[in-house]
Amino acid sequence: MKNYSLVDAHCHLNNELLLQDHDLISYWKSNNYKIFINSIINKNELGIAIKGFTVLHTAGLHPYLYFQKGQDFNLQDLIDFADKKQIHAIGECGLDKRYNNFAEQETLLVEQLAIAHEYDLPVVFHCVGKYYELAKIIKSNFPKTRGILHGFKGNAQIIDNFKQFDIYFSISSRLFQPSIDNKTLQAILKTDRYVFETDIELQHYHNSLEVIKKYNSINDIYSHLNISNKSFDLIDVQYKSIKNLFSVN
Ligand SMILES: [Zn+2]
Repeated sequence: MKNYSLVDAHCHLNNELLLQDHDLISYWKSNNYKIFINSIINKNELGIAIKGFTVLHTAGLHPYLYFQKGQDFNLQDLIDFADKKQIHAIGECGLDKRYNNFAEQETLLVEQLAIAHEYDLPVVFHCVGKYYELAKIIKSNFPKTRGILHGFKGNAQIIDNFKQFDIYFSISSRLFQPSIDNKTLQAILKTDRYVFETDIELQHYHNSLEVIKKYNSINDIYSHLNISNKSFDLIDVQYKSIKNLFSVN
């Protein structure tokens, strides 16, 4: 059997207890998970590690968390994290149409794009309903930004619009809610620039069974895709995409 590696391109591993669960660890091992891109919510999550796996941390000021809820780190901290090589990406950060402070969101985003540019880091984008605005901001500030549109929920036209950038699409169950949008899915696959994510927030999970169920939802996506595609092609593309974004082997 061909050797392959899976990456959870966006997750929140903020539950130290579950990360030591034997069933969960052996599930990840037997399913060939290798890398987790851990998006931190609190500063202390930079210490999270899983024995036998690679955990790459990413930190950003999130349009909801930063403005509505409050985060325990700020722009200066992001610079410090990057300086100390504690993070491998900036984000999640971005735009969210659910909150009425677009100008503030834009300013905060541009400041973070500047840090990513300065430290040559990829950006993990959170974007709800503002894809065209996001493209405009990238284009007029840091058009060479490389990054991931995490939890992508756009359409074929938006995918087309992002082709001008060094941007990858992250496929999650979000794309399948309320139902599978095949046209969008096919458009993503055609780009050959995609990754898969659970966006799991481990602190809300109580046992390994629940977590495994969430990871199995990714397997369901693979199975669905395999109807018209070879599975190893997809697995190759997701790993190659991660290698292009982050410095991993
Ligand atoms: Zn997330």
